[in-house]
Amino acid sequence: MLHIGFDDTDSLKGNCTTHLATKIIEKIYNKVEFLDYPRLIRNNPNVPWRTRGNGAIAFTLGVKEEDLNEIISLSIDIIEENHQEDPDTNPGLAVIKGNIPLELKVFAQRALTDVISINDAKTIARKLCFRYHLIGNGRGIIGALAAIGNTLTPQEEDFTFELLTYRISHSIGTKRKVDFESIKKMDRELAPLVFNNIDEETGKAIICPAGLDPVLYGIRGEKAEVLLKALEIVQIEEPMEAYCIFRTNQGTDQHFKYSISAIRNFNTFKGEIEVVDTPKTLVGGHIIFKGMVTESSKIVDVAAFEPSKSFRRIIEKLMIGDKILAYGSVRYKKEFQSFTIQLEKCEIIKIEEQFKEESPFCPNCGKRMTSDGKEKGYKCRKCKYKNRHISKLKIPIEREIQLGVYIPPAQSQRHLVKPLIRYNLPSKNAFHFVNNWWKKYSSN
Ligand SMILES: [Zn+2]
Repeated sequence: MLHIGFDDTDSLKGNCTTHLATKIIEKIYNKVEFLDYPRLIRNNPNVPWRTRGNGAIAFTLGVKEEDLNEIISLSIDIIEENHQEDPDTNPGLAVIKGNIPLELKVFAQRALTDVISINDAKTIARKLCFRYHLIGNGRGIIGALAAIGNTLTPQEEDFTFELLTYRISHSIGTKRKVDFESIKKMDRELAPLVFNNIDEETGKAIICPAGLDPVLYGIRGEKAEVLLKALEIVQIEEPMEAYCIFRTNQGTDQHFKYSISAIRNFNTFKGEIEVVDTPKTLVGGHIIFKGMVTESSKIVDVAAFEPSKSFRRIIEKLMIGDKILAYGSVRYKKEFQSFTIQLEKCEIIKIEEQFKEESPFCPNCGKRMTSDGKEKGYKCRKCKYKNRHISKLKIPIEREIQLGVYIPPAQSQRHLVKPLIRYNLPSKNAFHFVNNWWKKYSSN
């Protein structure tokens, strides 16, 4: 058994680590046995240097002893030849032979929630890897190791699949020609076993990335079989170079499974927070309020950002005394010398009763009374009744929010966040291979 992981081969200027994966698959497919789908592992989305989604790839393969070196060399060659040339692109490849050490599994959990240094990753690589390979500063070794260590073992971890289709190189830079009506049809026929195809607020299809990305479209779902059906339904008017189905931690909340309520810059956060002041709307539409982390009593800013639209409208209705389970990431704001939790998801767990104060009614005539001055009680203008011991009425305010889980709409969800449509699905405790989980058509 051989595990190959790699990461950081793309940049904002182009390429995609999953696309590079298909190039390696094409070269090694006939010489190895794939023991798992290629895994697409999303790690802590808050690390400051992430390219786009902070996604890394791992293969779990059965390889004959005499083919080991050839398979590894082929993989390294493809990364050397195909990675994006960019100072911010620093590929790394890791190879583990045999079973995955516990230490690597723990490392993979940390990569979901923390910021890991290149040096820490190199130390692990030197200790555990059969081979490893670094380009540039080798930052990709972090994701490479984390992808191998995150085995998404059924029964232990939730997982989903993503079918990714790729454009021929000639099309890159042109508008993607994917038929919108067919995307809607696919979603109608296959949801909830596919998810995040259409943004529920805007009605827009969100399966196509933008710009120079070689991905034509990607469809997320619960089973590989369902994704092959989706492939048949979605109509395109441009050639497809290849497609591949990945097993992933996207849409699973896996990062929150290992998150804690510690306040550390760039880490993920999960914890109970009590609202201690009224939410404010900032310029640009962001909503922010001060909250107290229950476990540590620390005061933090809690923010819902503009792209999260309707989610913001829930957050702005929170009031002092309400409690939420906050899920998100921690940022240190130098200018305010304070930490901000940027919400990715929120569960309202306590809605505090709120009151407004009103003048009391006259016990004699029923007319509303008026204040007779500070600490002088109330008087009635109609019948002249006066009472210095009568106090204001406390009227309960009807709250416009309900207990429950709130998540930004599909378009503004981060890759790892579990969409609501997945909450009621039975958990999967196995997966099996479909024929044709990948296919190469033509490169140009
Ligand atoms: Zn009166």
